[in-house]
Amino acid sequence: MPTYSLVIPVFNEEETLPELARRLSELMERLDGDCEVILVDDGSRDRSFDIMTDIHSSDERFKLIRFSRNFGHQVAISAGMDFASGQAIIIMDADLQDPPEVVLEMTRHWRAGSDVVYGVRKERLGETWFKKTTAAMFYRLLRKFTGMDIPVDTGDFRLVDRKALDAFKSLREHNRYVRGMFTWVGFKQTGVKYLRSERFAGSTKYPLSKMLKLALDGILSFSFAPLRFILTGGIFITLASIVVGLCAIVTALFRHPILPSLGIMTVILAFFTGIQLIVVGILGEYIGRIYEDVRNRPLYIVHDTVGLKDESKVHIPKN
Ligand code: UDP
Ligand code: MG
Repeated sequence: MPTYSLVIPVFNEEETLPELARRLSELMERLDGDCEVILVDDGSRDRSFDIMTDIHSSDERFKLIRFSRNFGHQVAISAGMDFASGQAIIIMDADLQDPPEVVLEMTRHWRAGSDVVYGVRKERLGETWFKKTTAAMFYRLLRKFTGMDIPVDTGDFRLVDRKALDAFKSLREHNRYVRGMFTWVGFKQTGVKYLRSERFAGSTKYPLSKMLKLALDGILSFSFAPLRFILTGGIFITLASIVVGLCAIVTALFRHPILPSLGIMTVILAFFTGIQLIVVGILGEYIGRIYEDVRNRPLYIVHDTVGLKDESKVHIPKN
């Protein structure tokens, strides 16, 4: 059993993989224990898997999981953690935005007794103004909404002790917000500040649609705030309509009706129809997630694995 398992999700990263392997080999020389690297190919359509196979052939500490299709970043890291056998598991991106050197600092905190050591981004290099601003706003909003101590400016780059990992593995929800799930499991958590580098090569695999989906998963799987907001809004509108209705009756009795013209009525009606559709949409987002979870499908389908013993699959909890 290795001391450290490095879990890396890979989606169309042919340009970064050789450099990643080089930097990880360097890191493994400096770590104070045996290591394995679990590369999870999340349905890449480029040469990523071939390159991963070459990397494995030259160093068997690199082990591979290949999905049958693209299941998404959050599922890929979850699969890597299902197969990891180390005492401490480290999650990193394949594009070298999470500097391997920071891992050394994380392991020191782990040795000192922390169960989850997460990276806090001091600054993000080479990312758009739009991404930085929306991300900063989102992390703060999420904290407010959930009332949970989800650390701000923190991605999935982290070291996790086996205890926290086993707890995490019992959470099999489908729409996953991994960083929030690690807050949820608790244990002793420590943040390490770091400078997020630029992507080594290639372009982001997180288009706006995937970012929005992740943000929605973060809010909906940790908070009922949107539902409470609907309830409060509904109560407010109902009370206001009663007051206006009473005023309308009284003024009509005195032959000075205050109700607006048909045109304005139409606009008001359209407005509230819109609000009702939004409300139905929000309910639908929750219901869709319930449906996905009750169907109880596996989180991912593995095409094949390289270098991993079948026994490691025994660790996968039943859904
Ligand atoms: N990734 C993945 N599946 C996906 C999208 C991304 O496994 O569907 C991987 C990707 O290869 C990288 C990590 O997730 O290792 C983070 O993606 P990326 O660097 O593109 O996101 P960004 O840093 O731009 O937010
Ligand atoms: Mg990246």
